[in-house]
Amino acid sequence: MTENKLRFYNTLTRKVEQFIPNEEGKVAMYTCGPTVYHFAHIGNLRSYIMEDLLEKTLRFMGYDVKRVMNITDVGHLSSDADTGEDKMVAGAKREHKSVMEIAKFYTDVFFEDCRRLNIKIPDVVEPATNCIDDFIRVIKRLEETGYAYESGGNIYFDTSKLKEYYVFSSHSEEELLVGAREDVEEDVNKRNKSDFVLWFTKSKFDDQELKWDSPWGLGYPGWHIECSCISMKHLGEYMDIHCGGVDNIFPHHTNEIAQSEAYLGHKWCNYWFHVHHLNDKSGKMSKSKGGILTVSTLEEKGYDPMVYRLFCLQSHYRKPLEFSYEVLDNMSAAYEKLVKRIASLDREGQVQKEQFDAYRQRFEAALCDDLNSSMAITVLYDLLKADMSDATKYALAEDFDRVLSLRLTEPRGKEKEKEGVDGELEQFILEKIEERRAAKKEKDFAKADAIRAQLLEMGIALEDTREGVKWKKV
Ligand code: AMP
Ligand code: ZN
Repeated sequence: MTENKLRFYNTLTRKVEQFIPNEEGKVAMYTCGPTVYHFAHIGNLRSYIMEDLLEKTLRFMGYDVKRVMNITDVGHLSSDADTGEDKMVAGAKREHKSVMEIAKFYTDVFFEDCRRLNIKIPDVVEPATNCIDDFIRVIKRLEETGYAYESGGNIYFDTSKLKEYYVFSSHSEEELLVGAREDVEEDVNKRNKSDFVLWFTKSKFDDQELKWDSPWGLGYPGWHIECSCISMKHLGEYMDIHCGGVDNIFPHHTNEIAQSEAYLGHKWCNYWFHVHHLNDKSGKMSKSKGGILTVSTLEEKGYDPMVYRLFCLQSHYRKPLEFSYEVLDNMSAAYEKLVKRIASLDREGQVQKEQFDAYRQRFEAALCDDLNSSMAITVLYDLLKADMSDATKYALAEDFDRVLSLRLTEPRGKEKEKEGVDGELEQFILEKIEERRAAKKEKDFAKADAIRAQLLEMGIALEDTREGVKWKKV
């Protein structure tokens, strides 16, 4: 372990704090995963890039990290106030597919986006639909202990039973309550305005495709309960860091804390890490608003996904970031220059240990200062200009890239993608793609998955894009 002390902003205490895990040297970390009813936009991916940076910084410092992420494939309604249509059902209707088909497709695309942005897949990824029994068990206990009540066919969490509900801020109820907004219908079954649904058996939208038996009748879970249960299932009763975008602070994370701590009877998570939004000219980029930008859109326009990663790393995670092609173009030029400069270094020769350690220390110190990623990149630029051997510079660039993940020392471009693939192999890949397409058409998803896995084992990754299936060497 390093001597540096990591400090970052904890939304719970509203301060930049030194990070001290529950168990020395170990970190239990949870990330709210995507709602898989549409493509993840580059705003969503800003959050995942910055969370990836936090995880990799912790690993770089020597922590043993276990990171868990859910996949929301049920229960996320179109309004966070538990009203409206389920986003998954709406997605399925839009595309004339089943909910599970939609979930599978967009989950695959999400992980493909992560791969392209060099975002590490969390150690555990769990779809909500895998954990229905866990949700029911926790909700039952909340009911038995008086924290949950049945009303109008749904099970609600009773926020009035808590000493403090608005743990993240001292905002007034009116200001925070989504349910109080004009465009959202108030749910008359609630005892208190801020109560939220744990389990639905009644919905205005009775076409919910996925329903499960429960002590309260056939129904489906609310959105917030899934993150509480999935994190507790894999990380136990105490968590170190919980991440998400700032829009998750209220009501999602507020409700997660309410139900988890009511269930556990003690404090649950010590640090809350929130990433600010990526905005476009008209405001926050959001899936429901439409007109979103995806990694594929950027690639189609000729940008290497690493350029977008650099764009995110050059700004602080706690500041809103406005997307513009102009800035992206500047990033693109800077990125090209940087990788060329590193590629020109002579790797042979001696690594100067003292120099290496000094720059590594500076790099880590920048990250320890509330994850100052742009300062960390400045350290990289500085060392490239410094008076030391090329081998030391190259070794440092390689080392820093464990955190920055900008593919600074990897072969790139089309040559890399198709490198070592002869005509015969290419023919085989194309046949397999066709076989997989036919299997999917027959709804034989097991076969389709097996084909994808077989190719991946051979080092070939398939990518489902709107223009069809693409492949590349990994
Ligand atoms: P969702 O798939 O909508 O559940 O969102 C996935 C993640 O992206 C969550 O952590 C959100 O808080 C985050 N997010 C949503 N919109 C943005 C945005 N415009 N910029 C950054 N993060 C966002
Ligand atoms: Zn969540």
